[in-house]
Amino acid sequence: MPVLVPETLEEACAALAARPGATLLAGGTDLMVGINAGRTRPDDVVMVGRLAELRGWVRDGDHVVLGAGVTYTECMAEPLASLSPVLAQAARSVGSPQIRNAGTLGGNLGTASPAGDGVTALVALGGTVRVRSTEGERDLDLATFVTGPRRTERRPDELIVSVRVPVADGPQEFLKLGTRNAMVIAVASVALVVEPGAVRLAMGSVGPGPVRATEAEAFAASVVDWTTGTAAAGAADEFGALAAAASRPIDDHRSSAAYRRRAIEILAKRAFLRSFSS
Ligand SMILES: Cc1cc2nc3c(=O)[nH]c(=O)nc-3n(C[C@H](O)[C@H](O)[C@H](O)COP(=O)(O)OP(=O)(O)OC[C@H]3O[C@@H](n4cnc5c(N)ncnc54)[C@H](O)[C@@H]3O)c2cc1C
Repeated sequence: MPVLVPETLEEACAALAARPGATLLAGGTDLMVGINAGRTRPDDVVMVGRLAELRGWVRDGDHVVLGAGVTYTECMAEPLASLSPVLAQAARSVGSPQIRNAGTLGGNLGTASPAGDGVTALVALGGTVRVRSTEGERDLDLATFVTGPRRTERRPDELIVSVRVPVADGPQEFLKLGTRNAMVIAVASVALVVEPGAVRLAMGSVGPGPVRATEAEAFAASVVDWTTGTAAAGAADEFGALAAAASRPIDDHRSSAAYRRRAIEILAKRAFLRSFSS
């Protein structure tokens, strides 16, 4: 299993073009677990964890551009945490300090697990994913980037360079339920992002990828008094019920589908109350 260690993004793209089936390695917190457990046996590995071009983030007007190599620890630090609270909250819920120091947003998108906390928050934020190959760059919609469990719109010769998401312009909440309080993969999660006149709700672990609750979103937009940022009593119950109805959970080793649906109802209601209480 040769491991290539390119020094520039251009070299990394050239390495992928020469070996289109190669596996990318960033923080290794997913990939190395798979290799050590014998689930994955990559032929070639291209290491992107040290590429300066993938590190760091910049503010671009009313957006933030985050490199694929940005870690959860970086998402939790100010001033980024205030620009993107939902991402900071999701980051805080990930693994342990060691995992948060090594694990990256690019790796979370690359793995495309239905339980990915970073991915769920990014889908609620909306925006774009930039991918690059020797043929150039493409910007893909975050909403449709994950196409199924462990599947994305990325071509094998492309790597994820960055994501571009809007700066917070309203309340944001990420809530996750697991089988314990820390070091846990989500049994169910919700990411709620509010912008003036609009609400986006993405749900994790209740579908083949992040699931948007579009009816709940439209309901919320119609019942919120946008001058005060509050909603009538009872609206949160209906929001939770609509979110649960939009979820598509399955029974598996972590939870039953029925428990997940009920968890979504409660988490969505709680996120709504936190965002729109007077
Ligand atoms: C103990 C433990 C706890 C965890 N807890 C959580 C948790 O609470 N929530 C959660 O969401 N995840 C959790 N994870 C999973 C993991 O930490 C995250 O998915 C993390 O974001 C992966 O990032 P990485 O940089 O380590 O990716 P890697 O393991 O390096 O790569 C993961 C995948 O992404 C691909 N990839 C990496 N970089 C790129 C790129 N630039 N372009 C395209 N593809 C790329 C790789 O080829 C690979 O397929 C946990 C893992 C462990 C071991």
